[in-house]
Amino acid sequence: MKKDYIFNDVNKLKGVGPQLSKYLKRKKIEKIKDILLNLPYSETDRSKLYKLNELEVGKIQSIKVKIKRLNFPRIRNLPNKILCEDDTGKIDIVYFNSREGYLRKLYPINDWVIISGKINYFNKKYQITNPDYVTTLDNKEYVIKNIPKYNLTKGINEKKYRIISEQVISNIPEINDWLNTDFIKNNNLLSWNESIKKLHNSKEGKDNLSKSFRRLAFDELCANFFTLSKNRKRIKKEKLPKLFFKKKSNYIEKKLPFSLTKSQQKALKEINEDLLSKKRMFRIVQGDVGSGKTIVSLLAISNIIESGYQCALMSPTEILAKQHYELAKKIYNNLNFKIEFLSGKTENKHRKRILENLENGKTNLIIGTHALFQKKINFKKLGLAIIDEQHKFGVKQRSELAKKGGDNCDVLLMSATPIPRTMMMSLYGDMDISKITEKPAERKKIITLSKPDNKINELWPFIKKQMDNKNQIFWVCPLIEESSFLDYSSAKKKFDSINKRFKNHVGLIHGSLNKDEKEEVLEKFLNKSLSILVSTTVIEVGIDFPNANLIIIENANKFGLAQLHQLRGRVGRGIKQGTCILLFKDGLSKNAIKRIKILKESDDGFFIAEEDLKLRGFGDLIGYQQSGIKNFRFADPVIHEDLFKLAEKYVSKNQEYINEKKYSFLLKLFDMADIINIKEI
Ligand code: ADP
Ligand code: MG
Repeated sequence: MKKDYIFNDVNKLKGVGPQLSKYLKRKKIEKIKDILLNLPYSETDRSKLYKLNELEVGKIQSIKVKIKRLNFPRIRNLPNKILCEDDTGKIDIVYFNSREGYLRKLYPINDWVIISGKINYFNKKYQITNPDYVTTLDNKEYVIKNIPKYNLTKGINEKKYRIISEQVISNIPEINDWLNTDFIKNNNLLSWNESIKKLHNSKEGKDNLSKSFRRLAFDELCANFFTLSKNRKRIKKEKLPKLFFKKKSNYIEKKLPFSLTKSQQKALKEINEDLLSKKRMFRIVQGDVGSGKTIVSLLAISNIIESGYQCALMSPTEILAKQHYELAKKIYNNLNFKIEFLSGKTENKHRKRILENLENGKTNLIIGTHALFQKKINFKKLGLAIIDEQHKFGVKQRSELAKKGGDNCDVLLMSATPIPRTMMMSLYGDMDISKITEKPAERKKIITLSKPDNKINELWPFIKKQMDNKNQIFWVCPLIEESSFLDYSSAKKKFDSINKRFKNHVGLIHGSLNKDEKEEVLEKFLNKSLSILVSTTVIEVGIDFPNANLIIIENANKFGLAQLHQLRGRVGRGIKQGTCILLFKDGLSKNAIKRIKILKESDDGFFIAEEDLKLRGFGDLIGYQQSGIKNFRFADPVIHEDLFKLAEKYVSKNQEYINEKKYSFLLKLFDMADIINIKEI
């Protein structure tokens, strides 16, 4: 068989017709190779033949029996029955909806057969309903053994799937391994061929530390990293460097009421170097909530404008965009920059003028929401596209905005989600990263407290005092993930009870509100007509609520560490001391106590993200989930941490060989071959 045959559609396999291939596709099994990648999660033990007096109800067992009689009742809805026995007892084999002819062929009277299936007991007699296997004695080996168990779906049973999987497994192509023998040995892996065969033996397949599983995880990582890295190279093309530089930004910096932190200075320097270089910038600034990313971007923007280019800053929400806009006007005051604001709500007559001024180049900076990347918008000379809270936008939206600037447009992303080291490559490829690790010096560390929620009454005096001092409070209810209705009702209940206490001072925001409704409530909170905001976790990232200094998080155990850290980052952004109170159900597990301790002791988002990863696994990392990049199927950043590092190294070393045939097999295996040709930002 040619080795590429595994990239054919499953319907090329013997026994797979249109119906079955439809069912397989539902399980994401589309190509033959997907059968290889669908690993067994357990096995069914059919390896022993039982006597009829040894049967156990509810278990799957195999028996060898003699066929005594077939019974086909002429009354509808009564099942067909085959009466069998061995020298220790009797059993009925029962069929619903089966044809007589078929059963007569399968069960010749007085012959011995092997049957395997789940044992029931009915009317004082053992029976098997619709057995999994019925076979002649000479075909015994096919059934009497451990049979790998795969995750299957309606319309495919074990027997059917075996016909397919065994066909494919016995035809696994011998490939020229892209990893050399020493590398395989030194890193505790196996050859591809050996691995893939072993993985279909259930013991290896479900042991994610086995050499063969590790090999598959490593391959998956390499395929992904190669792709990200290749795309990145494509984006980082030649461009015209930006010139005339830094006079204005120095002027602004001097006028700021604070001086930049070292981290901010470093990030700005890295950005400026990119702007001046002959390669397009493709950089992400990563920094905890409140680390001061906005000012860094505004200083970079002034350099762009000074060099004669336009700039676009896109934010995920209207309020956030507005805040940036107001800040920009303040900071650039005296500088003669023409700054505009655009969102979906901008009135038509203004919109027309705004679009005109972008097109004729009069506007230097446009700040807005998704509205910025729409078709009608054309820039005269867009030099920098900045995307704030980048995880809120899809890949497509990000590249739409960048495309408007043509080949000379640099791209800067900003993200408040610190990503653990292991995840960097898989999330950002080898995108350039500037990390803002320090917080502004005068920022007070948020005080984090924990309390069992049956002592909630002790909080009211404290809350009342905050309100008397004109401080504002976030009240976060746990998210009930399965249902936005339950979600709403728990938040609503909380709202009702707090609102009883502090009439007209309380607002409610939850997942079922649409964007406009949400922004309306937030607006009220921002202009201080509300003191307490009850919400599920939907409080937007990034918005500055300088007056909010207390956040109460209920059932804090439900949230990941990184998430709790982000939530508490909503308070204490101004000069006031921020406090975060974590409410818990009584009786905390060891793990929960450890988590609280980490939060109390550290306010370093990067450190917390690492710890979160260790404690909960990457499925829970919000940044990861929101990133839009799929989870790995085999590789796990906690269990396979060494492989992440190894794959990163391997990919950077072998980048130039990516076009070789051996890697095309790897890329096709993980469905990367097509993606690698798509331009992404
Ligand atoms: P984020 O990184 O979450 O986007 P922002 O840029 O919104 O953070 O900054 C949060 C607050 O910190 C703002 O009010 C900003 O003025 C202030 N800030 C930024 N840099 C500094 C600094 N170096 N010293 C003091 N305050 C700063
Ligand atoms: Mg921000």
